[in-house]
Amino acid sequence: MDAEARPSLRDLPSVDLVLRTPAGEMTVERFGRPAATAAIRAALDEVRGCVLAGHLASLPTPDHVALAASETLERAARASLRPVFNLTGTVLHTNLGRALLAEEAVEAATAAMRSAVALEFDLATGKRGERDDHVRDLLIELTGAEDATVVNNNAAAVLLVLNTLGQNSDGSPREAVVSRGELIEIGGAFRMPDIMARAGVTLVEVGTTNRTHPKDYVGAIGEATGLVLKVHTSNYRIEGFTRDVPARELAVIAHAREVPLVNDLGSGTLVDLSRLGLAHEPTVREAVADGADIVTFSGDKLLGGPQTGFIVGRADLIAAINKNPMKRALRVDKVRLAALEATLKLYRDPERLVARLPTLRLLARTRGELAARAHALAEHVATRLGDGFDIEMVECASQIGSGALPLETLPSAALAIRPALEASGGRLNALAAALRELPVPVVGRIAEGALLFDLRCLEDEAGFLDSLAHIRLPA
Ligand SMILES: *Cc1c(COP(=O)(O)O)cnc(C)c1O
Repeated sequence: MDAEARPSLRDLPSVDLVLRTPAGEMTVERFGRPAATAAIRAALDEVRGCVLAGHLASLPTPDHVALAASETLERAARASLRPVFNLTGTVLHTNLGRALLAEEAVEAATAAMRSAVALEFDLATGKRGERDDHVRDLLIELTGAEDATVVNNNAAAVLLVLNTLGQNSDGSPREAVVSRGELIEIGGAFRMPDIMARAGVTLVEVGTTNRTHPKDYVGAIGEATGLVLKVHTSNYRIEGFTRDVPARELAVIAHAREVPLVNDLGSGTLVDLSRLGLAHEPTVREAVADGADIVTFSGDKLLGGPQTGFIVGRADLIAAINKNPMKRALRVDKVRLAALEATLKLYRDPERLVARLPTLRLLARTRGELAARAHALAEHVATRLGDGFDIEMVECASQIGSGALPLETLPSAALAIRPALEASGGRLNALAAALRELPVPVVGRIAEGALLFDLRCLEDEAGFLDSLAHIRLPA
């Protein structure tokens, strides 16, 4: 561009002039004067830079500058933690926040946020109550355990149990006996051996990676043993030449030596999942009945509640756990406790549970049902994405996620989106990026040259299509 064509910076509107445009006034109205002024100044600086670099043939109007400033502020105002459409096909997606709460739980949590609640206050006597009182009886009823307590998550539950049972009263470590095949890493730096070290417990590994026998445990249990730990190998499975000692058998071995058996179930479920056509996963009730003295499990995996961790089992051990000062540091706040109580109460009505609890409802959707949704949505999605893409219904497999039933997949259906022209991974990545920019971002999964929208977790179809209408694809 030659020098004569370059617009003069003297014609650049002033901040004041931009503020007085209709768009400028709306920006002040929405974000306040200081923020609007700063954003307009920054927008004008950018224009000035472009002019000096010779990138602009004409100056923007004051209204355009105001709009640009307002868009910047709009972006900055968006919540960082905001809703997304999870079309990955993973129902309990840890990176997308795991279980969706039931309406009953959402209402209870909202009510607890808005007002004072009888959190540690016994309304019957007017005396001090306990936080756990709101869910203790429910947990006992649903698991068959003698007593129960709740903490921040299952990692906290495991830490607290190990710290309580794995130390002598003078704080010196006792031993925790664990099979080598169960020394797992859950992800997010939760490794059993590290947790043990932090809990002040001495790890005693028994058996080999693929095989552990009853005699291995028998040989390892001695004077210094504080507990025997069984860990559900949630996120992987060893197949082939394997042997592990079932919980029931291990309980007999531990009890004969007066050592408690702790069973970390990981996900833990309160209902028999074979009812939903899934593989049978031991329920918490079964783990308790099999003789574990303590069972730990998560609130936001298969149970379908808020992030929490449960410790259920023998009353004397739960009492010792409750006396551990660490419990105070791991406790649950009123909001999650309210959501948890409401979630657990849904389990009292097994007939309506699947309809009311989103996690189970999503797991129960059949391929036939999802394929029908895919057919119904395909054209609407195609309209919103424009000519550049081909869309078809494909069969796919969803996952449960969060380490629950790792090898189990659910027959599902997806919309597969491919660039209409030749195979171009770049175009697909650009599409995925544009979907993440939507008012409610859409997160799918790229597989075999296609972007897949697995429809298992899509219930708000109208909201999804509304969000998709805002897509801005690069030319
Ligand atoms: C998921 C899991 C944990 C951790 O539970 P969080 O609730 O995520 O803290 C611990 N142990 C096992 C076996 C798990 O699967």
